[in-house]
Amino acid sequence: MSSAVVDKAAILADALPYIRRFYGKVVVVKYGGNVLSVAEGSKNGQGVDELSLFAQDIVLMRSVGMQPVVVHGGGPQIGELMARLGKVPEFKDGLRVTDAETLDIVRMVLVGKVNREIVAAVNVHAPLAVGLSGEDAMLLTATPRNPDLGFVGDVADVDAGILHRLLNEELIPVIATIGADADGQAYNINADSAAGAIAEALGAEKLVYLTNIEGLRGDVADPSTLISTTTADELEALLASGALTEGMIPKIESCIHAVRNGVGHAHILDGRVPHALLLEVFTHEGVGTMVSK
Ligand code: ADP
Ligand code: MG
Repeated sequence: MSSAVVDKAAILADALPYIRRFYGKVVVVKYGGNVLSVAEGSKNGQGVDELSLFAQDIVLMRSVGMQPVVVHGGGPQIGELMARLGKVPEFKDGLRVTDAETLDIVRMVLVGKVNREIVAAVNVHAPLAVGLSGEDAMLLTATPRNPDLGFVGDVADVDAGILHRLLNEELIPVIATIGADADGQAYNINADSAAGAIAEALGAEKLVYLTNIEGLRGDVADPSTLISTTTADELEALLASGALTEGMIPKIESCIHAVRNGVGHAHILDGRVPHALLLEVFTHEGVGTMVSK
């Protein structure tokens, strides 16, 4: 027998302890809008289709008894449609205002486009993905962050009932992070924060952020400063030091909160790396950043 065949068998056998450890466990995976735009680009061009590889990983996890839940972003995709519609963003004290028309666009892009793309990509491999908005069955109750900024919300409450029902049916929920208040008014919710809140509500074993960088860096400008393992306390100090900017801040804040509130581990991984999720979940290789309590 060729050694390549033996190597393949060894890889599968090595996965056994991980398959057993995570059997029945919930893993919340946030798929970033930036990594999706890389995937959208490559789909139109040459080479691998990253979204399809991601979808395959999710189906594989489900197929060996894990309970994956996908939460997605879509910032770049929202920006694209806004530009196409000629909608000029409005700012108040440097912060983007989400008026009713902008909220409409956000919802159309997240629920109508990005959510559908991920659901379709998963269902190519197995007919298991069910797309939902945080508005469905009141999954995400929102409260306005700052009334002056319009319809940008924070998560006030997660009602995980709908997720439990889908997971019990061995389906894969794919969630767009629009929330609603008690009156049915919709709000745009940051997907990183929503993923953290959902992971806590489900008592997830893992919360995984798939993004467009190899992990958390001690110094954002220096790739050699990748932090492989860290703790909530260390991250709190890093946040206070100002080493994190923009998109990394809500991820790290959510990681800290999640591991302190029952989530086993949080991870920041490079979603551009083929099968980053499989490497993290089923092998001993440490990829990206792992956060412990
Ligand atoms: P996503 O679509 O996945 O949410 P974001 O652009 O919002 O992506 O967040 C990831 C970005 O965060 C990285 O591309 C990087 O530019 C930025 N970032 C800021 N500080 C750090 C840091 N300390 N380490 C790594 N990335 C950082
Ligand atoms: Mg982001």
